[in-house]
Amino acid sequence: MSEGDQIPLSGSDELNYANMELDVQRERLDDLLIRFGRKGGPTEHGWHVWEPAFHCWLDFFDSRRKRSRQRETKALAIGTLVHEFLAMRYSSEKVLGLVNFLNQHGWEAEVSEALRLYNAYDAFYAPGDGLSSNKCKVVMVEQEMGRDRTPWGLPYTCRADLVCEAPNGYWIVDHKTSSSLTYEFTEGWRTDPAILGLLWCARGQSRDFFPKDLPIVGCVINGVIKTKVPQFQRITFSIDDRIVQAWVDMMVYKFRVEMSIAELKPVPNLKGCFGRYGRCRIYGECLGGTE
Ligand code: SF4
Repeated sequence: MSEGDQIPLSGSDELNYANMELDVQRERLDDLLIRFGRKGGPTEHGWHVWEPAFHCWLDFFDSRRKRSRQRETKALAIGTLVHEFLAMRYSSEKVLGLVNFLNQHGWEAEVSEALRLYNAYDAFYAPGDGLSSNKCKVVMVEQEMGRDRTPWGLPYTCRADLVCEAPNGYWIVDHKTSSSLTYEFTEGWRTDPAILGLLWCARGQSRDFFPKDLPIVGCVINGVIKTKVPQFQRITFSIDDRIVQAWVDMMVYKFRVEMSIAELKPVPNLKGCFGRYGRCRIYGECLGGTE
């Protein structure tokens, strides 16, 4: 599939994860994954930790003070499980043990949906995905990277789903699940802060981190759309250092300049208050009375 291809998608095909409630009595998925020996969830100082500051300083400081954990949602749980199954598949591990373990702890519905997407992903991408051929091979799976010292004075960590070696250099591969093919999903990755943070970390590793002294060229997004019949979108792009530097400059301005004068008062905003995965954690105490 060439870059920028669009797959037609009928709206009635979409599964509505937003209406599916999570059972809060169960043990958290991340805790179970760690108990099973997996990494589980995002890295400690990843983009998800810093992102709230770009919407609302009050939310950011409150989550830092309370050491809030990422909110668990149905969509996030299924995405996490698809990632875990794919990581095991690319590491030649069997997923059955993890499936049984999670089913015993009440996660059958999410596991079943994640397996459906994982099997579809595997059938679509694996046979001709070019990631395991002579010209391009997977050299790292679920590889954590990070820098303690950053130009903005705060640690930064991330995890690459896959790192592939091609003749022209290394490519960072990210598995993505989405409920629909939005413009952001097909076009937004070149300026996505989490992706740019990954590239910045990868390009900043010491020379012996990667097997060969080759450049980090760019990213491959292997997308699966969570329709009843799953659909796929691969997006491949290289990113030059000026764009990655713009991301660094953005972080420096936010956390060195703006944070020093940030006011801890609510500033209602669409993305922070009513975000993609639901309302802000502290919406009730912050803005609850203003609806
Ligand atoms: S509800 Fe909105 S204004 Fe209040 S802390 Fe959350 S993001 Fe900020």
